[in-house]
Amino acid sequence: MAEEEEKDPKATEFTIIATLSSLSPPQLSNFTISISSLFHRHCCRITAVVSSPSLFSLTLHHLNSLSLSQKSILIAHHLLSTLSPLSLLLHPTSAAPSAKYSNLHNLDAVLLLLLLCEIRQHNPLSLETPISDWRQVLCKYISGNMLTLSYAGLSNITVLSRYVMMVGKCRRFLYLMGFSRSKEVGAAAAAVVALPSVAVEGGRECVVCKEEMGKGRDVCKLPCGHLFHWICILPWLKKRNSCPCCRFRLPSDDVFGEIERLWEIIANKAAGTVVNCYRECV
Ligand SMILES: [Zn+2]
Ligand SMILES: [Zn+2]
Repeated sequence: MAEEEEKDPKATEFTIIATLSSLSPPQLSNFTISISSLFHRHCCRITAVVSSPSLFSLTLHHLNSLSLSQKSILIAHHLLSTLSPLSLLLHPTSAAPSAKYSNLHNLDAVLLLLLLCEIRQHNPLSLETPISDWRQVLCKYISGNMLTLSYAGLSNITVLSRYVMMVGKCRRFLYLMGFSRSKEVGAAAAAVVALPSVAVEGGRECVVCKEEMGKGRDVCKLPCGHLFHWICILPWLKKRNSCPCCRFRLPSDDVFGEIERLWEIIANKAAGTVVNCYRECV
């Protein structure tokens, strides 16, 4: 699926659509409401930025001061914040650690970046003007598309299709930036601290050290149910956020690692949905 997505960006959109189609009607309705309200808040924010000459100038200056990799981190955080509600629906214990970028300054910058991309896509020549005229171009675009941008009165299907396009656009952007899926990341400290200790009667083997987990040695239980000596699993989780037995992923503090973790939950659901559809058809 990974290579396929890099070659064919439509595969990302297909994965999201397959996952959305697996939700029950109430789940889909709640999800649509939460996404509309998130996008509506973003629309209000970018409208405020573009309406204020000083705030616009400050945000554009901040955006211009960022390197390409810093911009990709902003996009990644934005993508993560929009994937989280869907992965939480599919896997209620998959809550991500709170986003670290969530200051208004960075939110304004990423919203402006996405709006500039959208405008350029809409009309490639519209930004071929002096930068001093950009605010006027953006104001004109926002006022001409206010209903669509604010999500006011849009049908559920329109909201969802815009969500699918937005996720696809962000993932394509990250691939263009050279985002690698294979990088290993450690588990988030908060997720490790929250792991429970359990009592074991003996007879079970810790797969890391191959020794028995008997009484008197502290044993940790991962959310997937697999048990390990604390002393064995801690160094492992410092380097990798996956279970040594089943590759279940714990949250990570790395934004790209988090995107992969949540994407894996979504893609697994999509794969199950496609297989089920196929079975029903044959
Ligand atoms: Zn061990
Ligand atoms: Zn496991």
